[in-house]
Amino acid sequence: MPHTCAAPVGESRIYLSSPDMSTLEERSVLRAVRSGWIAPLGPELDAFEAELAVLSGRKYAVGLSSGTAALHLGLLALGVGEGDVVVVSTLTFAATANAVVYTGARPVFVDSDASGNMDPDVLETALATLAAEGQRVAAVVPVDLMGKVADHARIREVTARRGIPVLSDAAEAFGATRDGRPAAAYGDMAVLSFNGNKVVTTSGGGALLTDDAEHAQRVRHLATQARVPIAYYEHTEVGYNYRLSNVLAALGRAQLVRLPQFLASRRAHREQYRDRLGHQPGISIFGEPWGGPSEDTMDNCWLTTLLVDQEAAGVTNEDLRLALDRANIEARPMWNPMHRQPAYKGERAFITGVSDWLFASGLSLPSGSALDASDIDRVCTVLLRSIRA
Ligand SMILES: *Cc1c(COP(=O)(O)O)cnc(C)c1O
Repeated sequence: MPHTCAAPVGESRIYLSSPDMSTLEERSVLRAVRSGWIAPLGPELDAFEAELAVLSGRKYAVGLSSGTAALHLGLLALGVGEGDVVVVSTLTFAATANAVVYTGARPVFVDSDASGNMDPDVLETALATLAAEGQRVAAVVPVDLMGKVADHARIREVTARRGIPVLSDAAEAFGATRDGRPAAAYGDMAVLSFNGNKVVTTSGGGALLTDDAEHAQRVRHLATQARVPIAYYEHTEVGYNYRLSNVLAALGRAQLVRLPQFLASRRAHREQYRDRLGHQPGISIFGEPWGGPSEDTMDNCWLTTLLVDQEAAGVTNEDLRLALDRANIEARPMWNPMHRQPAYKGERAFITGVSDWLFASGLSLPSGSALDASDIDRVCTVLLRSIRA
C-alpha cells in the first residue's frame, strides 16, 4: 500500500488560499461565453475595469493578464529602462523584482519595518546614498505585504522630495484600506493581482490603477501589441499581449460581488487563530496589533502568518510546517527576501535584518475564504499539539 502521509482517512488537504467559487461565478462565465465576446476585449472587461476603479478610488483601471504584467507595464509607462535603478521592497514575491529586470533596469532592495512593509527610514537612506553616487532612481516600488497597506504617506514624502514616482504593488492587498483609502489608491500607479491564491481571482489576471489619463492610455496601448488604431496593423514600437480576457473579467465581476463576504471570512479566520494561538508563549500573529473592521485602516487578512520565537515556543516555524504537512495541511514560510535569492545575488541592498528575521520565524497558515471554522479548528489543533509536545 502506498504510504505518503499520515492524514486521517477522509480528511482532505487544507490549502493555504484556494479559489472561492460559487454558482454566481459559473453563471457569470456562461453569460460571457454565450455573449460571443471570447477575446481580450468586450463589455465584461469594460465593466470589470469600471468596477475596479470605483472600488480602488481611482479614475482609471486597466485589466491585464497578470499582476506581473501590470508591474511590467507600469514601470514602462513611468519611463523605466536600461541604465536605471528601481528601489523595491526586499520582502516580496519575486514578481515585483522580476518586472524591474524585464525593463532592463536593475533592482535595489530596501528592508522592512516591523509591519513587513518597506521601511521609510531605510528608503530615505537608500535614496540619499544613490543620489550621492549620481545614480538615477527611476521609480520606487513598495509592496503592501500580506494585505497590510504600507506607510504610503511617509514613502511619498521621501520620494516626492526627489521627484521619484511610486508604483505601488498592492497585489496582496485588494480590499485593504489605510486612513480610509483603498490600497490601490496609493502611488502614482498601483497594481492588483487576481491570481488563483489572491483574495479575488480571475484564475490569472491583474490590473493597473491610476488617476493619470496618459499613464492609463500608455499601459492600454502597450498591452495590445502597441497597435496603432488604423485598419491595417501598424506598430510604431514593440508592444505586449497582456490584456485580460473578457471571459475572465466576467469571473472577476462575480468575485467582486462576493468581496465583502471574502473579507469577512478571512477576518473570522484571523480572529479564530488569534483566540486559539495568540496566547501561546513565543507565538504571535504577524502584523498585529493592526486596525480592525471599525477603523479606517483595515488589513484584508489575505494570509494569517504566525511568528515563532524558537526559544520561547520550544519549536521552530519549520517544525510546525512539517507537523501541518503530516496532517495534510499546507502552510508556507514567509517570502524569502529578494536580497537572499540566488537570482538576485550581487544586487544592491539596504538591509537591517528585519526581513531576514521575518523569514526565519514566519509561517503563513491556511486563510482562504472557502475554508470554514472547522477547517481552521483542525489547523489549530495540530499546531497546539506540536507546540505542547
Ligand atoms: C501575487 C503577487 C504578484 C504577482 O501577481 P500575478 O498575478 O501572479 O502575476 C506581484 N506581487 C506580489 C507582492 C504578489 O503577491
